[in-house]
Amino acid sequence: MATYHHIQVPAQGHPITMGSNHTLNVPDYPIIPFIEGDGTGRDIWKACVRVLDASVEKAYGNKRKIAWMEVFAGEKATKIYGEHSWLPQETVEAFRTFLVGIKGPLTTPIGGGIRSLNVALRQDLDLYVCLRPVKYYAGTPSPVKRPEAVDMVIFRENTEDIYAGIEWAAGTPDAHRILEFLHAENPNLFGKIRFGTEHAVAEWNHNAKLAAAGESWLQVGVGIKPVSKLGSERLIRSAIQYALVNKRKSVTIVHKGNIMKFTEGAFRDWSYALAEREFPDQCYTWSQWERTKKLAGEEIANAEQKAALAQGKILIKDAIADIALQQVLTRPEEFDVIATLNLNGDYLSDALAAQVGGIGIAPGGNLNYVSGHAIFEATHGTAPKYADLDKVNPGSMILSGEMMLRHLGWDKAADFVNKGLAGAITSRRVTYDFARQMDNATEIHCSEFGSNIIDHM
Ligand code: NAP
Repeated sequence: MATYHHIQVPAQGHPITMGSNHTLNVPDYPIIPFIEGDGTGRDIWKACVRVLDASVEKAYGNKRKIAWMEVFAGEKATKIYGEHSWLPQETVEAFRTFLVGIKGPLTTPIGGGIRSLNVALRQDLDLYVCLRPVKYYAGTPSPVKRPEAVDMVIFRENTEDIYAGIEWAAGTPDAHRILEFLHAENPNLFGKIRFGTEHAVAEWNHNAKLAAAGESWLQVGVGIKPVSKLGSERLIRSAIQYALVNKRKSVTIVHKGNIMKFTEGAFRDWSYALAEREFPDQCYTWSQWERTKKLAGEEIANAEQKAALAQGKILIKDAIADIALQQVLTRPEEFDVIATLNLNGDYLSDALAAQVGGIGIAPGGNLNYVSGHAIFEATHGTAPKYADLDKVNPGSMILSGEMMLRHLGWDKAADFVNKGLAGAITSRRVTYDFARQMDNATEIHCSEFGSNIIDHM
């Protein structure tokens, strides 16, 4: 095993490994790397680790126990490894070696040239799925009338789309060169970019306002949105497999293919094609329905779909992103697993988390189902104004730990975490964020909330 400078590998644990059939081999004492996180991360990690250990002990006694291994990133890493070491290489290597880990929120370093640490970890380990389950815990303050109707799992593509970060700032020679290149390649198509090239301005210079704008016609920022077939397929495959294993009813492909045909539209088409090719006996798709409708009429297509669903097949359907954002509010029962690209997924995850009142308790995981690498994480930031006050809600980190336990196949322990959290919320002894929105609630500290969860397991 690799040797590390500052990471202590626990003597009594064993690494998790990947089996040949894409399932994890999890020893009874798995070594799990963790990053406690900056700011409030320190408080929420302390509460989280107590809750996770208690759930494992309650579920399995002494037979199983997590061998925690601290690894470093963020401000703590700069103190140990040196001023500029926000994400030491041995931290990435530890996650690579031990496969499954968990992290608290990290400060995003300010200053040119330093990548967001979260994005860096996702990219270095190719964690292509951002998994965000969204469900309601009774008693949680929510802005909607029926939050209990929300029970969705979002599979957000994590490596492509405009998040690839390929863009050029307005007014720079690079942006200008890209625009000129596009115009030269296909004047008809790229003439649609109104400003930014001499040609475009020549077309528009009858416009006095534009002429008066002088050099500002060069101010066009340009970004590129790559969406690949392989990237789309591995995402939708993971979403369907998840739906099958977890006995979900449908997978909705959320996209903006009506506008972005060759990126978002292609994502939808590749998704349908993969579902029909790889899961013909387990899925029924809306594209099959469309074909049958065309050949035999709507009634027969409806009957075909009904029969397929009666056999327990999963329905693969799609929704345009803007409509989806309305319907998850107005008809939440119709959504189950959601598969979507990076930007849509970002919006949807937070909008849905808000519906169940869960911004402070929304969990997340970043996974590569092929290599087995996974990092579970609190979805909020470091909330520095509350750092070390033992104040904030540790729920997001704890539920990310619950996801991790399920990922390990330790469902019994995960169920205890869920039960404990549900009980703690209904007891109305909660952290400030919930207390300020609940009637008759008692505000307690972050650590006390952790103990309250353990008491209710
Ligand atoms: P933030 O840390 O998420 O805090 C924003 C607000 O969310 C807080 O002021 C608080 O609202 C609420 N909040 C956050 N965590 C909470 C918790 N555990 N319990 C209850 N309420 C909670 O966002 P930010 O202030 O924009 O970002 C601060 C730093 O975190 C930045 O350096 C940012 O880059 C980083 N960040 C890291 C991650 C990550 O590591 N995954 C994600 C996002 C941001 P009230 O004050 O209204 O109570």
